[in-house]
Order: sequence, then C-alpha cells, then structure tokens
Amino acid sequence: YLQSMPKSETIKLREKHLGAACQLFFRSSPLKIVRGIAQYMYDETGERYLDCINNVAHVGHCHPHVVEAGRNQMSLISTNNRYLHDELVILAERLVKTMPEPLSVCFFVNSGSEANDLALRLARVHTKKKDVITLDHAYHGHLTSMIDVSPYKLNLPGGPEKPEWVHVAPVPDTYRGKYTYPKHSQSEEELGKMYADEVGRICKYISDKNGGVCAFIAESLQSCGGQIIPPDGYLKRVFEYVREADGVCIADEVQVGFGRVGTHMWAFETQDVVPDIVTMGKPMGNGHPVAAVITTPEIAKSFADTGVEYFNTYGGNPVSCAIANAVLDVIEEERLLERAQRVGNHLLTRCEKLKHKHRLIGDVRGRGLFVGVELVTDRETRTPATAEAKHIVNRMREEKILISRDGPDSNVLKFKPPMVFSTQDADRLVDTLDRVMAELDGSIPLRNIKLEVLVTPLDETTSTTDSMLQSNMAQSVKAM
Ligand code: PMP
Repeated sequence: YLQSMPKSETIKLREKHLGAACQLFFRSSPLKIVRGIAQYMYDETGERYLDCINNVAHVGHCHPHVVEAGRNQMSLISTNNRYLHDELVILAERLVKTMPEPLSVCFFVNSGSEANDLALRLARVHTKKKDVITLDHAYHGHLTSMIDVSPYKLNLPGGPEKPEWVHVAPVPDTYRGKYTYPKHSQSEEELGKMYADEVGRICKYISDKNGGVCAFIAESLQSCGGQIIPPDGYLKRVFEYVREADGVCIADEVQVGFGRVGTHMWAFETQDVVPDIVTMGKPMGNGHPVAAVITTPEIAKSFADTGVEYFNTYGGNPVSCAIANAVLDVIEEERLLERAQRVGNHLLTRCEKLKHKHRLIGDVRGRGLFVGVELVTDRETRTPATAEAKHIVNRMREEKILISRDGPDSNVLKFKPPMVFSTQDADRLVDTLDRVMAELDGSIPLRNIKLEVLVTPLDETTSTTDSMLQSNMAQSVKAM
C-alpha cells in the first residue's frame, strides 16, 4: 500500500509531468521515500535512512501527537480565519509568549516565502521606503519578491538580475568570508564590527541617495550560505545602523527557529537583539504547510492604517493551527531545546575531533542541531573541496545516512536533523563520516568510488537535460 507503482514508473511520470527545474536529490538515482518515523525515513523497499537534514520534520517524522491533531481538526472543520477559531488565537498567544517585547502581533501564512513576502510588505508600508539590504548567498524564498532579495538565486546564467533597490552586504563568514580569523583579526568582536560596518556603509549610501532604508533582512544564522554563525555583536551593531537609517530589521527564522539552536527558541536571541519583524515556517507544522509573521503593534498598525484588508485563504486555518499547536506541545513536553543543546554539543565535539584526524576538514561550526563541516583541499588557502563534499554526500547515502552540502561552493556538509536526533545517531553519523573520509585520505581502500566525481565537480544532477540546471549545478543541491 506504500506505493502505487514501481519506482521506474514514478521516475518516468515525474520526468514527463514535472518541471525539469524542480529540485531532486540524487537525480541520477533518486530516492523514493514512502514513510517516515522520528529521525528515520524509509524507501519503497523498506530500507531505512537516518535523516540528518530534514529540519522540517522538527519533532520527528509523523509524530503521533501532531498527526492526531491534524486528523482530529480535519474531521471537524477546516475553514478560513474570517471566522473565529480557538486554535488560531491559542497559537498566536503561545508564539507571542516565546517572543521578546514588543513583538506581539501575528499574521498566519502558508510558507516561508509567503512569510518573508509579507514581512517586506509590512516594512514597505511602515517605512515608506524601498531599499532593502540582504546578505550575500542568502535565500529567502521562491516568490518573485523573494528571489529579488536572495543573492543565492540572482545573477545566475539565464536567471533574474539583482534589482537596483537591493543591496548586498557580505555574509559574516569568519572562515572564508571577506574578514576572517586570523588574517583580519583574532577578536570575534572586531570581526563582528568589520562585517557590521559594511552594512553601516550601505545604510549611509542608501540614506544619502534615497533618504532612508526600508529593511535589512537576514537569517539569524545563515543556513543557505553554508551554516554561518555570525560573530558576537554583529546583529546588534547592524540593527543600530539600520534603525539609524529609519529601516526595520527582519529576522528570517524559517530554518533556524523553534529551538534548533538549543539555548533559545529563536536564533536571533543568540545575538541578543530584538527584530522588528520575525518570520517562521518549515518546522512550525512538522511537514504541514504553515508559517507566520510576528511584528510589533506599531508596524501592524501602519499596515491596518492603509485600509487595505489582509486576507489569506489558508493562512491560519484551524487544521494548520491545530498542527502548529501540537508541534509546540511536543517541543515543550519532550524538552527538545535541551535535547538539541545536549546532542548538538556532542555532535560538534565529535566533529571537532574529526578535524584533527582529517585534513579535509577546514572548519567545524554550529549551534545546537545546526552544524556545518567545511571541507577544504588546503587548510592554508582554504580552497573549497567541492568534489570531495559531493562524493561524501553520495557515499553517506550508500551508508543509509542522508546529509546535504551547502555554501557558495557547495563544500559545507550540513547537519540539521529532526530534533529527536540522539547522541547514538550523532555517533553513527560521525563514525561513518570518519570511515568515508578515511577512504578519501587513502588510509582505507576506496570502496565504490567513482573517481570521476573527484575531477568533475558538482553534481547529483547529471541525468538532467535542462541546460540551466546544468549550469547551476552548484546551486541545485542546496536550499532544502
Ligand atoms: N527562508 C529561508 C531561510 C529558507 O531556507 C527557505 C526555504 N529553503 C525559505 C525562506 C522559503 O520557505 P518556503 O520554501 O517554505 O517558501
């Protein structure tokens, strides 16, 4: 009952009827996933995979409490939020309780893209300005408005160009960014200042030219840019510059929110700042499409004062809200923040140890269950080991462990598993990684290695006929 047709037929039908630009993992030999439980996914043959990348299945694939909440509400009513419903207001109240003052007004939408689009709309209405500052390599969604502020998708061959009202600041990557340890400074604070001053200069430029900034939008920890942890003090200083230029600060918590960092519910809290607008999605519904924007009464008032009513057919429907409430129940009842901190620290420590063993590892960084392992062919020059990263992702899949890679050079191994990940899972992940890397070091005979991947960088996508995808291969394995 788990599949309606053999895998080969699924592939054929997909190729026939789905847009070739749609992303598919392991394109030349894709996975057919038919079932999920907790941190595991199963293919049509019953093979079990350890899921180290699905931050959407936050409280675990198909958590029974979440499934039951959706099923129950679905059997009662699913309508729109022009009617009163308790699940909606309960969810709003619970989310607001996790936020610092004055973030207290919610809007419910269906995806991270929609949340960021609404955030930008609120910023425009409130500031009456247009210029937006974003970070290099950032991704904020697939809507036209979001592609505009997502350098990760801009200026690619055949793709959209960056609009003139969008200004790109360097990503605060202290390992391979514009300012790094130890070349530019030994001090985290100083590096934070150097990166923030870049935003300050852009604010000044915009203010001189157009009288003020509309918004600064950034992930609190940049995931698409390669699991970047900004230096301490970075966002604090950036927010000061943006606010001095009359702009608002938008924190995109779509990937990193809901306790993934372990110490806090929201990743912006690790930088000790209070944004003007926060957007959230992915983990919020544990796989069900539900997302939200939370802002200040002042900004919400500016929006209401336009007289243009806001309506979103599915945003805040009772089923989505019941599911999101159930996700919050599980986060609380299963103490998933504590778990993310404990298991995340264990994973980080073990990855650090691996760094001493394998020269391929240039940097290990993370917060809670948000971890990146950056691979380089040379630790001095920090040259990205893109082909090796690709090879490792494929070899780990053979070992039934799903990981992904990210960053502008697709050389950062990325771990962001469901929050029910255990220390045993972390051990299995790192032990396997150790063995696969040893094959590359030459200390273990190569097994199953197709050597061409080591000389042909980038690709899980070789069978695609789409030329744009071919030219954007480095991009195509990212943005989960
Ligand atoms: N913001 C970030 C940081 C994301 O990673 C994503 C999705 N990868 C989005 C926004 C867009 O979310 P969605 O795909 O739900 O529209």
